Amino acid sequence: MSERIFISSIGQDSHRFCSSDCKEGRVLTLGGLPFPDLPPLEGNSDADVILHAICNAISGLTGKQVLGKRADALCEQGITDSRAYLDLALQDLAEDERDFSLHHLSISVEAARPKFAPLKEKIISSLAGLLPLKEKAITLDATSGEGLTACGRGEGISVLCILSASCLA
Ligand SMILES: [Zn+2]
Repeated sequence: MSERIFISSIGQDSHRFCSSDCKEGRVLTLGGLPFPDLPPLEGNSDADVILHAICNAISGLTGKQVLGKRADALCEQGITDSRAYLDLALQDLAEDERDFSLHHLSISVEAARPKFAPLKEKIISSLAGLLPLKEKAITLDATSGEGLTACGRGEGISVLCILSASCLA
């Protein structure tokens, strides 16, 4: 019988807020949820910076990139909902011979705006609906990092996450 090992993968992404001329029709989307009352982020897709960081973390487990070529191809077909990119990443994970199980997702946001405290529960609950993880296995914290970076000064949102998993050795 093969031994199972525990591994973690890091995922990262950043997007800048729309300038006043790109706001038209764009909606801030975080963790698959729209927040129409908050300033939107710029991007070819819906710019869901949290889902993009998670996609990158899953790619770090499978070794198969989703954001970039494959997501861009979907984007060109008009599929801009980042949940479609996450589905691709989860499909890669499910098809991997190493039999992955996800155990925990830790998300760290760097942003001066919006305030994440009132959004946190909604985002976690949305993510638990999109990922094979229970709500209690997902944590989200936000900091402005004393305004030392552009995101910490309110120019965009930066997300770092660590995905913990197990798989066959
Ligand atoms: Zn992105």
